[in-house]
Amino acid sequence: MRHVAIVGSGPAGYYTAETLQKADDIAVDVIDRLPVPYGLIRTGVAPDHQSIKAVSRRYEGVALTDNVRFVGHVAVGTDVSIDELVVLYDAVVLATGAPNDRPLDIAGADRPGVIGSAAFVGWYNGHPDFADLNPPLDAPGVAVIGNGNVALDVARILAKTPSEFAGSDIVAHARTALAASGVRHIHILGRRGPHQIAMTPKELGELAHLERASPRVDPADLPDEGDDALLEPGMRKSVTHLRSFAANPVAKPVTIDFDFFAMPVAIEGSQENGGRVRRVIVEKTALDADLRSHGTGETYAIDAGLVISCIGYQTPPIPGVPYEHGRGRFANDEGRILPGLYCVGWARRGPSGTIGTNKPDGARIAEMVLDDIGRGAGKAGRPGLDALLASRGVAPVTFRDWRRIEAAEVAAALDGNPREKFTSVEAMLAAIGR
Ligand code: NAP
Repeated sequence: MRHVAIVGSGPAGYYTAETLQKADDIAVDVIDRLPVPYGLIRTGVAPDHQSIKAVSRRYEGVALTDNVRFVGHVAVGTDVSIDELVVLYDAVVLATGAPNDRPLDIAGADRPGVIGSAAFVGWYNGHPDFADLNPPLDAPGVAVIGNGNVALDVARILAKTPSEFAGSDIVAHARTALAASGVRHIHILGRRGPHQIAMTPKELGELAHLERASPRVDPADLPDEGDDALLEPGMRKSVTHLRSFAANPVAKPVTIDFDFFAMPVAIEGSQENGGRVRRVIVEKTALDADLRSHGTGETYAIDAGLVISCIGYQTPPIPGVPYEHGRGRFANDEGRILPGLYCVGWARRGPSGTIGTNKPDGARIAEMVLDDIGRGAGKAGRPGLDALLASRGVAPVTFRDWRRIEAAEVAAALDGNPREKFTSVEAMLAAIGR
């Protein structure tokens, strides 16, 4: 029997398990620190993007196969170390994603009211680590920093009315807070221009159909229309959306302004409000020949009671595991980190691509693992992990337990939302009598 442990039960983890489980004579353990599976699908993908979240049914199919096991509520690094896993399994695959924000390195970034997208997205998606975030939504101005899809998710969620969350799995605490929100002016700050955005057309197009909010682009920021022909087709579609926002400004109570060539350089606060953010100082930029931005010296201020930094994520380092600091991911050679230790998905590539990008990635790493481990080295595998955890008083949550948690979430739905989720580990464990 060959034994493989996958650390992380998000898309990269389950796509890797999907290919591995088709091999003969293999046992795959998918380990997660939370008692619930699916990682980014549950707590990262926007709650109003249910069609993307539906992919979890595919992962469920993998989880229910005989040779794959979910090992929930087991923290690698605390309950069991990577070194121990490498001794127990023929291969250990780190599919831990990139859950930490890249730091916003400007004066005032530590002020109250400045938060990273990992925390904000986790909050509206019910991640237990961020359930108590309580982001301040009382001031009219919000600055969203970054020009990627996460910035779009964050701006859209801030702009939506309660009825626009129908059918979503936004958690009750966020739905209630957003319903009472005083946010009226959302600025999306991009340090470069419309041709340098990292936003996809579908997500940009959604902004044109919001009930009470309208996107605005300053026509002066747009490059010559003829230059769009040089863009790849997806990007051209995205820029076409920006052109239509510029050409057809619609008056609605909430505005979403795209501030291009706008680099935040400082965040100012007010003494009387505990130092909480009051405004963001932005420097206008220009692009050099390599399309990098540099400051022009011209500045302006945006009033904001909340700043959400959406400038990308990084994988948390694990002591003893080689790490590439500049890129925020494990140091690896096409997925190989050290003998017996691999990485996949965002932990391997850095935080890029869509959920689907992880499918070929997972398949490739699984094939590599199968090649490397051959028929296996007679390692202890599952029984070995079970014995070790039992000796430490750690009782894993099984996939069957998860199904009971899921059923209890539906039954406990606070205001009748059948997609409601528990937002604390305690509530999850209570649902299975622990
Ligand atoms: P991203 O796509 O890498 O975008 C990060 C943005 O932050 C870029 O616009 C970047 O600008 C900007 N930035 C970086 N450092 C900055 C700084 N110091 N100051 C100001 N701006 C800075 O990252 P993301 O939005 O977090 O998305 C992560 C991945 O998830 C992406 O692949 C994304 O497509 C995917 N995703 C997909 C969906 C979807 O398909 N619906 C939803 C959410 C996320 P520069 O270009 O100038 O560096």
